[in-house]
Amino acid sequence: MNNTLQQDLNNIENILEQVKQQGIEFLNSLDSVPTSSSNSMTTDRNLNQTGLGSLSALDEFNQRLAPMMIASPGPRYLGFVTGGSTPASIVGDWLTTIYDQNTQAVKAQGGVSALIEIETINLLLQLLDLPKSFLGGFVTGATMSNFTSLAVARQWFGKQLGKDFAKNGVSEPITIFSATPHSSSIKCLSMLGIGSQNFTKIKTIEGNREAIDVADLERNIEALSGKPFIVITSAATVNTADFDDFVAINELKKKYTFWWHIDAAFGGFAACSPKYKHLVNGWENADSITIDCHKWLNVPYESAFYLIKEEHKILQIETFQNSNAPYLGDPLENFSFLNFLPENSRRLKALPVWFSLLAYGKEGYQDIVENSVDLALQFDAFITENESFELLAPTRLNNVCFTLSGELNQEKVNSFLTHLNDTGKVFMTPTVYQNRKGIRASFVNWRTSEKDIEIIIEVMKNIIDELKI
Ligand SMILES: *Cc1c(COP(=O)(O)O)cnc(C)c1O
Repeated sequence: MNNTLQQDLNNIENILEQVKQQGIEFLNSLDSVPTSSSNSMTTDRNLNQTGLGSLSALDEFNQRLAPMMIASPGPRYLGFVTGGSTPASIVGDWLTTIYDQNTQAVKAQGGVSALIEIETINLLLQLLDLPKSFLGGFVTGATMSNFTSLAVARQWFGKQLGKDFAKNGVSEPITIFSATPHSSSIKCLSMLGIGSQNFTKIKTIEGNREAIDVADLERNIEALSGKPFIVITSAATVNTADFDDFVAINELKKKYTFWWHIDAAFGGFAACSPKYKHLVNGWENADSITIDCHKWLNVPYESAFYLIKEEHKILQIETFQNSNAPYLGDPLENFSFLNFLPENSRRLKALPVWFSLLAYGKEGYQDIVENSVDLALQFDAFITENESFELLAPTRLNNVCFTLSGELNQEKVNSFLTHLNDTGKVFMTPTVYQNRKGIRASFVNWRTSEKDIEIIIEVMKNIIDELKI
């Protein structure tokens, strides 16, 4: 064994102890760690001939890199839709690394990590009150979950025309309807050989909405005269957290044959609260659902899962099986995740989720979801009352979409946001909504409290004064 490696092995207790202390310090100071970094770094470090050992590498990390780490898992990072990590999820994540299992087969490969993943999916179905008729698995993010789901949808579409796209390639145009698909779904259409432009944009409901106009969808369906199609719907759009009407879509499902996908990356967690569960009524009838765990479930990156109805199992295997590797066995007899999703070798991504679900239970997640929405509404109240700002859309759940008041201030939106983010006290992201420049604040972090809203409001008022808006 190489000398430095041997020394590290002998010193593992001390090394991990130092990392643990550092972790505790970071987590305990998240409140004051800046939410943005003005530092930059060079990226052309030479690789040394002789290794430094873990502790010297840690020293260099602490000098050069750690000072640039931002508080994105902290309470005032409201950009994109960014969750933090619950204590239990960190436990699970550390142990995932320590145990370093390759989560594939249930039988044959020796370990039980695939069973842990299956158990975790069952726990998630209970959290979200979804039926066991879904089979699920973990992937890196909602993008890959959309990819996995839409890949099976693509295979389904081919089968309706008597074709096997997985084997022979996509030989026919695929009909896809969606009103406000997330950019990642469009990227998936490109990755799947369907074409990012090859979907039909359905109208949204009249007024300030991003949700699908079901009557317009039905007009488009009628025009197909019985040909197959795929519908991509949203459980919370990123701008305004708007939900498509799943009860109405399910009515269409009784009349027409189609693949119904729901991107519920963060909106799916509405199901955790009796107050907001109605937003996803009917979603159990979808063919596939995408849900992110590194957002509202508050587990570390990377973590998401797909749910695909078990009745589509064969289509899923046709899409993802490793058919030219006989040592992997018959995918129907020997269940292995590697025949159901894009990756082969896989981290035990389920473990942080398993820990967090066991640690906090249904009530813990109901509290996180309701707290996020309460805080979004408090922030909404500030935006509504302060004459410098106006809402771009009503706050339907946990995302507040707003801008500076008045058309004349449109040109100042970017500069306001830059000043805001430069304070390092809060972070929000820009958007364009109905042709107006705006700002999004998304509340999903379990740590965010009323005190944070007060800090954010004060910072925003100061910048308004400073910029004389
Ligand atoms: C965040 C998000 C995605 C993409 O998720 P990643 O985890 O970043 O891959 C897809 N859809 C919706 C609605 C999202 O909010």
